[in-house]
Amino acid sequence: MAEIKLENVRKTFGKTIATRDVSLTIHDREFMVLLGPSGCGKTTLLRGIAGLDQIDSGRIFIGDQDVTDLPPRKRRIAMVFQSYAVFPHLTVYENIAFGLRMQRMADAEVKKRVGSAAELLHITELLQRYPAQVSGGQRQRVAVARAIAVQAAVLLMDEPLSNLDALLRLEMRAELKRLLKEVNSTVVYVTHDQVEALSLGDRIAVMKEGSILQCDTPLKVYDYPATQFVGSFIGNPPMNFLTGQVKVDGSSTTISAGGSTFKPSPSTQSALRDSASVLLGIRAENIEASATAVDGALSGSVLVVEPLGSHNLLTVKVGAEYVKVNAHADAVFQPDQPIWLKIATDKIRWIDRQGGLALA
Ligand code: ATP
Repeated sequence: MAEIKLENVRKTFGKTIATRDVSLTIHDREFMVLLGPSGCGKTTLLRGIAGLDQIDSGRIFIGDQDVTDLPPRKRRIAMVFQSYAVFPHLTVYENIAFGLRMQRMADAEVKKRVGSAAELLHITELLQRYPAQVSGGQRQRVAVARAIAVQAAVLLMDEPLSNLDALLRLEMRAELKRLLKEVNSTVVYVTHDQVEALSLGDRIAVMKEGSILQCDTPLKVYDYPATQFVGSFIGNPPMNFLTGQVKVDGSSTTISAGGSTFKPSPSTQSALRDSASVLLGIRAENIEASATAVDGALSGSVLVVEPLGSHNLLTVKVGAEYVKVNAHADAVFQPDQPIWLKIATDKIRWIDRQGGLALA
């Protein structure tokens, strides 16, 4: 059992608070992604779990064991780092065997473990080569194989795909996903790439300035961001946010935004007060663009048309605000053309404008 439990983990560097009393439970065999912009504390948290840095306060548990004061080698972990340091003077075979040799494992067992790790990562034919004789992507796989061969209860990965070119990254992403379902480790994976996070994670912990803003399944984080920041950070393009004004009139609560009037759900209504300023959050794919007037739609004018192959990305000016809309690839829109935007009201995320928090 390798559940990881973080309780109020704080780490500071001088005046910088790298992690602010972070609490998080990562279930046994779960694939948890730590996602956030540069400097938000992802690596610090991972290094804390690994025991590479001593935390200032809080506790870290792996399984039933409090590992807060244990050195890395006693934590049942394996790691892959961004730089994927493989030893240049060792063959691929010996690189993968490294952790096993450190454990003084018998040769026959080392051979078996290296063989199966290499097979999983499709690098069997490279075992006798040196790192300089394989490609960057293959070197990356050697580093992953080395971590997997140890069969640690916990696998910690810090941006392991960041040094690869776009195509290889895409391939490796799918490969990693397949592979990590076959090993029984609990995985903590750091990235600032939101697509990678959505594709790989069982859950994603979105971080900002040393805190976790939301920890949920990829779909939840995408469809129901807990804050404006999460909605902006996840998804390409980011979620649109239009400013709205609440009007409470007796038992009726409405919100005007983008020149249209919306009726929020009862649970959202109960969180609203008259004249409050809110944000209407909506994703580009949940807006239908029309060249002719549509009842209840927002009216605007097309500013930019970006053909992206599978669809066209439109930037539309609505009043003084801008909205990104996905339109069909064969829909013909021109800059300056009037346009009507029909919003899928069940997909709206209402956010409190002041605090940036979702309202329901
Ligand atoms: P990136 O995606 O750029 O790797 P990150 O989210 O992993 O960023 P961390 O490396 O955890 O962020 O850094 C969190 C904060 O702590 C940053 O403000 C960083 O400057 C600071 N920090 C990290 N390591 C040190 C250190 N050794 N000394 C001083 N400050 C540090």
